[in-house]
Amino acid sequence: MRRNPRRAYNEHGHEIPPLMLTGMRAHSVRSIDAFCEAIGCGHSATLNVDGLPDVLPVSDFDVRLQCSKCGSRSVHTRPSWTEMQAASMGRGR
Ligand SMILES: [Zn+2]
Repeated sequence: MRRNPRRAYNEHGHEIPPLMLTGMRAHSVRSIDAFCEAIGCGHSATLNVDGLPDVLPVSDFDVRLQCSKCGSRSVHTRPSWTEMQAASMGRGR
């Protein structure tokens, strides 16, 4: 069975729906962290996604983003979970 490498699968081989911005926002996370994977670059940035639609999969940013430092398209993204931790702590650190 062919699998989409951009999707996650559970132990039964069923595709796990991608995390959408709406799911991220449900956890009080309003930004994504982006990391450039180009060798020798290591640029990272936090992007606020307030202006984007709820139904956008977080994993889609991987293919949409381009590193502003070196121009690479090997950008890995993930929800900025540190924001969620800060929110659950009440007043940040
Ligand atoms: Zn880069």
